[in-house]
Amino acid sequence: MVVGEVSTFSEVVVIGGGPGGYATAERAAALGRSVVLVERERLGGVCLNAGCIPSKALIQVANTVALPAEAAAWGVESDARADMERVQAWMAAVMDRLRGDVEGRMRRAGVGVVRGTARFSTARRVVVATNGSTQHIEFDHAVVATGSRPTALRALAVDHARILDSTDVLALRAIPRRTAVIGGGYIGLELGCALHKLGSAVTVVEIADRLLPAMHPALGGALQRRLSARGIEVLLGTSALDDDGAALRVRGPDGERRIEVDAVVVAVGRRPNTDELGLERAGVPCDAAGRIAVDPSRRATRTVLAVGDVTDGPGLAHKATAEAEVAAATAAGRRAAFAPACIPEVVFTDPEVASAGLTPERAREAGAEVVTRRLPLTASARALLRGDGAGFVELVAEPSGALLGAHIVGPDAAELIAEAALAIEMGATLEDLALTIHPHPTLSESLAMAAMS
Ligand code: FAD
Repeated sequence: MVVGEVSTFSEVVVIGGGPGGYATAERAAALGRSVVLVERERLGGVCLNAGCIPSKALIQVANTVALPAEAAAWGVESDARADMERVQAWMAAVMDRLRGDVEGRMRRAGVGVVRGTARFSTARRVVVATNGSTQHIEFDHAVVATGSRPTALRALAVDHARILDSTDVLALRAIPRRTAVIGGGYIGLELGCALHKLGSAVTVVEIADRLLPAMHPALGGALQRRLSARGIEVLLGTSALDDDGAALRVRGPDGERRIEVDAVVVAVGRRPNTDELGLERAGVPCDAAGRIAVDPSRRATRTVLAVGDVTDGPGLAHKATAEAEVAAATAAGRRAAFAPACIPEVVFTDPEVASAGLTPERAREAGAEVVTRRLPLTASARALLRGDGAGFVELVAEPSGALLGAHIVGPDAAELIAEAALAIEMGATLEDLALTIHPHPTLSESLAMAAMS
């Protein structure tokens, strides 16, 4: 700090106003700490402005547009098309409203929101740059919640015109006629599925030998069959090489191929925003991937904590929010640890895919003996009424019956997985699930039926 520069003090400084950051700030303030939240763009972070919320809005629009074609099989004749200008206006209105909610929560909690880009200058001070001016804030604890950004591919630089990232897709005002999606993880598949329903001919290019490579192998396989049946081309074991403005060149098991497309979506993962934070000045080390290592109380050092996408684990908003609870408690001087029995993961494709807890492979690697129970959704009346009986529910348990994991492909899997997560967290057994009376006819019955099977 230069002599004469003014520095303010806040017990807790939170850097980043996404779900990890704003939840930390609100909770730390509720625990009696003075809190400043620094955000360089918009409150709500990626989740609210360029992730969870706009993507689910677009998916809802796409599902609605595709419904008439599906309902035709039930004898319902109708037509639907999306006016993307109005779709974008609606999405913006939803995001504005939710952002207003976050702003209101910060105000009511007494959190001071500072607009600007924060960097550490020491282990107890950050400097915030705002439109040419700077402000120094000293703290007892800083919580890094700066999130992540899309991983770039050197040969396919995003130009926001033909080569798009996920944020570009969510802002589309016209649907490309033909789209290649590079990346068969959850973001690529959700966007690819939505674009396909909105009328684009979609090819998914995935370098691994299955979709959703980080999840239970049967989930990716089942989803692939469904996507292919819908007309989405899925190329596995295939890498994207380059693009000449008319076609994407890929290399797969059958050699090289040019795929003529109007847009290429790069969705090959995300990298943590830790490289421009001056973390070295605060003595905070990062791993090779740029993630901040923290202990269960979310501490990276005595004064710096971290939550959300900048730390290890799945890059998901609910994980960030759960970690925020712990970080806030730690910063407020309480004993707390982040040690969930499971973190549910959901893929909002059609059909939806959801997992919580261990796969049989992971359980065995961890030395556990496991039993599995799988129920095809053809056994679920509700799934058939929804016109979708092709999925399954698989439960993974210890031989004693203690539930270790649940893996679902099918309608409303995103909602169903919460029951399984609760069961795992509560130490429930297959018998507990089977003997809990579930309403009929519902999709939730399929969890009890799988447990009973
Ligand atoms: P972020 O939400 O990334 O927020 C970080 C904030 O920090 C940003 O606002 C950024 O501007 C700010 N910032 C960064 N550096 C600085 C700095 N130096 N100074 C000040 N501010 C700074 N997750 C789900 O759980 N469900 C979903 O359905 C889902 N869908 C997604 C769909 C897409 C297309 C994408 C891209 C992501 C999706 N995610 C979803 C992931 C989810 O958005 C992230 O896991 C979540 O936003 C991470 O929260 P965070 O608080 O760690 O960081």
